[in-house]
Amino acid sequence: MAEREYYWLLRCPCGESLEGATEDDIVDVSFAHLKAKHPDMADTYEREHILFMAQRFVKT
Ligand SMILES: [Zn+2]
Repeated sequence: MAEREYYWLLRCPCGESLEGATEDDIVDVSFAHLKAKHPDMADTYEREHILFMAQRFVKT
């Protein structure tokens, strides 16, 4: 049985596109980006916020 593959995309307000293969990936990538580029915002975001802003796409 073929499982559907997804990827996650989050467009940061600074214009950068972040991508992850799984929920955990996009959360990790986004936090790394926040810490590197927006350290003042890094503490105010939580996993739920990241996933709320991220969009999930089906891989084609
Ligand atoms: Zn950014």
